[in-house]
Amino acid sequence: MNEMREILEKLVGELGISGSEQSVSDLIEKEMKGRVDELRKDKLGNLIARKGSGKPKVMLAAHMDEIGFRVKYIDKKGFLRFVKVGGIDDRTLLNQRVLIYGKQKVKGIIGAKPPHLQKEEDRKKVVECKDMFIDIGASSREEAEKAEVKIGDPIAFDRPFSILQGELAIGKAFDNRVGCAILMGVLKQFKGKEALHGVWTVQEEVGLKGARTAAYALDPDLAIALDTTTAGDTPEVEEGEATTEVGKGPAITVAEAGGRGLITDKRILNWLIESAKKAKVPYQLEAGEGGMTDSAAIYISKTGVPCGTISIPTRYIHGPGEVLSLKDVENAIKLISIALDNLDSLNITRS
Ligand SMILES: [Zn+2]
Repeated sequence: MNEMREILEKLVGELGISGSEQSVSDLIEKEMKGRVDELRKDKLGNLIARKGSGKPKVMLAAHMDEIGFRVKYIDKKGFLRFVKVGGIDDRTLLNQRVLIYGKQKVKGIIGAKPPHLQKEEDRKKVVECKDMFIDIGASSREEAEKAEVKIGDPIAFDRPFSILQGELAIGKAFDNRVGCAILMGVLKQFKGKEALHGVWTVQEEVGLKGARTAAYALDPDLAIALDTTTAGDTPEVEEGEATTEVGKGPAITVAEAGGRGLITDKRILNWLIESAKKAKVPYQLEAGEGGMTDSAAIYISKTGVPCGTISIPTRYIHGPGEVLSLKDVENAIKLISIALDNLDSLNITRS
């Protein structure tokens, strides 16, 4: 558990908004060097590790990118306007601390017109992102530029990793550094003869882009995406609205986004469920209506790839402080490792 906590803390400490995943990729590369048979990067920035060379060819994918922002404009008084990168609820933004990653890291806070100066009826409305700004303490555009902040610079939430009660962790970017950490854990343990390709993908949050090109190039016999999913175990969520709970085991996806995303191959689904039972790991089934994962792109690559997704139930997903259970993370590694040991039971043939 401690090792997982350490690596997760390191991973969320890095910047990795979509299109700016370099430092996350560098960290993973450093950790995995010498522990796999091959480690390389493709043209889009996906980091690809391989262990073993037999059949079948298995692809595990975890996206490195997190949601965030980019500098859109610096005004005369030195305040920054910004664009969102990925799906973000405006209500989570106000008064959050952020870091702008220019030549150096610059601290800032997201502000808006003070409520005391708003009309009664406006106070009840949600402040939209377009009416917010980032205050870095600069008093003019020139001063902001002196701090080497410029248009396009990536911005991420500034939120340290920490531990709550019950082995729950809180931090930014668990979506999807936790998937990255699981992939690292599985690859380190893997001793099979099959060709296991671990892909840390780029730009998932803005259209599943890295997974698409990586799957095309690898053309795997089967694939599993590792990600996070919305937990429905907090107050005000009606029973049945979101079915996974934090700490009750990794979620095995049956279908994503009402079937617009991945529809899990039946053989893969059974294999994962049987593996969870064999590993004596609790698991939860999920048929979601909302988001998609890298699987949605991988499974329709080329002539189609039998695919599944394993997710860690997470509260406050895409917010500045996401919450998940470290036990679920350990159990996900166990489940996938046992599944890979039992590839024989999975009858995947290709035409
Ligand atoms: Zn994700």
